[in-house]
Amino acid sequence: MRTAISLAYLVAAVLFIVGLKQLSSPKGARNGNFIAAAGMVIALVATLPLLNFTSAGVTIILIGIVIGTAVGAVGARMVKMTAIPQMVALFNGVGGGAAALVAVAELLRMGQHPAFTEAFPSIFSIVIGSISFAGSMVAFAKLQELMTGTPITYPGQQVVNGILAAAIFGFVIAVLAVASVPFSFIALMVLALVLGVAFVLPIGGADMPVVISLLNAFTGLAVAASGFTLNNFALIVAGTLVGASGSLLTKMMSDAMGRSLANVLFGAFGKSHAGAAAIAGKEGRSVRSGSAEDIGTLLAYSQRVIIVPGYGLAVAQAQHAARELAELLERRGVEVSYAIHPVAGRMPGHMNVLLAEANVPYEQLKEMDEINDEFKNADVALIVGANDVVNPSARNAPGSPIYGMPILNADQAKNIIFMKRSMRPGFAGIDNDLMYDPKTVMFFGDAKDSLTKLVAAVKAAA
Ligand code: NDP
Repeated sequence: MRTAISLAYLVAAVLFIVGLKQLSSPKGARNGNFIAAAGMVIALVATLPLLNFTSAGVTIILIGIVIGTAVGAVGARMVKMTAIPQMVALFNGVGGGAAALVAVAELLRMGQHPAFTEAFPSIFSIVIGSISFAGSMVAFAKLQELMTGTPITYPGQQVVNGILAAAIFGFVIAVLAVASVPFSFIALMVLALVLGVAFVLPIGGADMPVVISLLNAFTGLAVAASGFTLNNFALIVAGTLVGASGSLLTKMMSDAMGRSLANVLFGAFGKSHAGAAAIAGKEGRSVRSGSAEDIGTLLAYSQRVIIVPGYGLAVAQAQHAARELAELLERRGVEVSYAIHPVAGRMPGHMNVLLAEANVPYEQLKEMDEINDEFKNADVALIVGANDVVNPSARNAPGSPIYGMPILNADQAKNIIFMKRSMRPGFAGIDNDLMYDPKTVMFFGDAKDSLTKLVAAVKAAA
């Protein structure tokens, strides 16, 4: 039986890895999810024979499976696309909390004076799982606007957080060295929960996706540690995969934002947005704005159009209108593609998900590195609700908060159409020189309304 279970775990592990690999392209992402979920079902079913079916615990486990499946399935079906980040935060937090509780149960089972090698993974799991749980709950509350999304800071905050971390370290030593202290790990858990909250409070709401990705890595590590405690190979593999991919995603997102992870975690980015917004666009420079008819004619007679979608496209839910415009242009012989910046929108893969939902062909979605050289040959860069990801100050303004962030070369296109509602800045809260570029025509309005007007204008163009 043990061999059969190990083989099933091996199959599950392979499916997790293949599923993850599939997630690396929009084309394979849907299948990747199914494959990884199949792996999870196999791992769950393979675990059942390990249970003592006569014990009362089995009923509790079965009730847990039913409740978990129902909440997961209903939640995933009902959640709005814009609320995915907070759903991920919630589910991730629950995973971290579960790993911590499993570790508590194991420590209780071990009784007094467990061997160091036995106790250490459990202690690790309690600390990291609790931080992940509490931090994810704060991230959820920020994104769901149950609390303010602006960074909550106070003088000496990092010192206080440092003291908390040091106290946790001290308790870990105490629990491992003097394990006879009954329930000392409860204090450890409370401290870790407090640190989880304190760690996320000073981080701005819009930076939450990066934090969630990091906490996701934490949960993975806590789960892997639980795997060591329970001697469960599937948990070790799954936890390590989550830990590794979460860490990589955190690094890639920070790089794509042109910021260090330390700046995301400790920089209180977004604290001064209101001030930044107030100065944006007040330099007395003039911009050109155009009519739907003029822009429609320009698009209709172009050979090459690159659409640059951004957060505003998501807010306006303009993905279907964008696809309609693109299809119309393609029927006229215009070559259309979409330039996807890795951190456009507010969560990883935001634009891919939205455009896939609108059935935009995958071949038209081009990653930044793939398309950046093509802007110079494009007749029009049509910027739909994007801002920071095309802001040239990332290249040429060393003092700018986004200096160093790789951007889409929209400024190199022959014509630039900038679609947004006002002169207000984007997430970074800074003015965008591209709006004042002589090649740029602003087209003000809600992205969905504006695209619908452009569709009509292109149809009307002779
Ligand atoms: P930005 O936030 O820079 O800009 C979005 C623009 O959309 C705004 O300037 C806004 O202007 C416009 N807009 C908002 N609503 C509408 C609407 N209904 N119709 C038309 N326009 C609208 O978005 P980008 O996608 O360019 O950049 C993403 C930013 O978010 C980057 O700074 C990135 O670092 C950050 N970020 C991304 C994460 C990710 O994982 N993707 C995670 C965390 C942060 P106006 O108000 O005038 O309409």
